[in-house]
Amino acid sequence: MKRILVSGGAGFIGSHLCTRLINEGHDVICLDNFFTGSKNNIIHLMDNHHFELVRHDVTHPYTAEVDEIYNLACPASPIYYQYDAIQTAKTSVMGAINMLGLAQRLNARILQASTSEVYGDPIVHPQTEDYWGNVNPIGIRSCYDEGKRCAETLFMDYHRQNKVRIKIIRIFNTYGPKMLPHDGRVVSNFVVQALCNNDITIYGSGEQTRSFQYIDDLIEGMVRMMNTDDDFVGPVNIGNPNEFSILELAEKVIRLTNSSSKIIFKPLPFDDPKQRQPDISLAKEKLNWHPTVQLEEGLENMIEYFKYIAC
Ligand code: NAD
Ligand code: UDP
Repeated sequence: MKRILVSGGAGFIGSHLCTRLINEGHDVICLDNFFTGSKNNIIHLMDNHHFELVRHDVTHPYTAEVDEIYNLACPASPIYYQYDAIQTAKTSVMGAINMLGLAQRLNARILQASTSEVYGDPIVHPQTEDYWGNVNPIGIRSCYDEGKRCAETLFMDYHRQNKVRIKIIRIFNTYGPKMLPHDGRVVSNFVVQALCNNDITIYGSGEQTRSFQYIDDLIEGMVRMMNTDDDFVGPVNIGNPNEFSILELAEKVIRLTNSSSKIIFKPLPFDDPKQRQPDISLAKEKLNWHPTVQLEEGLENMIEYFKYIAC
């Protein structure tokens, strides 16, 4: 049994990770300030004596004796990370410093939930880990993109300079149950809109692409990465390489929900990346990992989950 800290543990990904770690028999501390997370996401763990929930903001230092840290704290949906852009940048950068400092003192392993956003609006396609990206440093997405890039820099410098045992994963668009109905990201938006027979809101022409990964595949990749040897630090892409246009996604969701929703087109947000697809050769080689849940199957689970809470 290990003692494991999960920052952002009450969020979408964090709550699935806490559940997985508890099921494996570990002792888990879930740290969250509930900005986009919810107690409902982890309510099923509350009575478990191996689970501890702590209300805390990672921009402030935190101490506890643990063996591993998963650093997930940070809003991930554009509407939420842009709501208080300064706090988003602080969460990424100061949160990384505080969690890395803790890992250093404890000689604990620490995994950073980085993002495909470090590639910005990529010119190289599909994206490999050695691509440095195409990121606007002063735009409305920069608080998140540059915050996450700076966090990666800090992770690498704590590793090189202070010998901290780090792991970096770059997560591509992930969806699944426990996303908030009003989360704002595209898969949850479309499923909720379709179930309620409301208009499906496509931003721009819908020709932009994303590659959607189901939550269970991500959690498997994260845990495998944490358990690799100390000399493999990443970064490593974790995503599903099957790429879809946003229009294709909307059509699929309408068909699977049997919805009477109409597609409407709204302005494309500034700096919205045109395409995104992970090259997962490194994850296959180092983690013996590849995604197993394809989009239609994942969407069916998502529809089942939102059926009761969407409208
Ligand atoms: P989420 O918004 O559901 O979860 C983030 C959690 O962090 C929430 O519980 C929130 O309350 C908490 N949080 C935010 N600021 C905090 C702070 N200052 N102190 C403590 N807690 C704080 O998002 P998610 O999709 O679960 O994403 C989790 C992590 O994975 C994030 O770091 C995100 O950048 C990364 N990621 C997610 C995706 C994705 O597609 N879901 C893709 C790439 C990277
Ligand atoms: N998007 C959309 N309608 C929505 C929400 C998002 O067309 O209701 C688009 C968005 O402009 C982007 C894509 O879907 O091109 C993915 O958006 P999301 O916020 O889920 O992820 P990110 O842009 O951060 O990859």
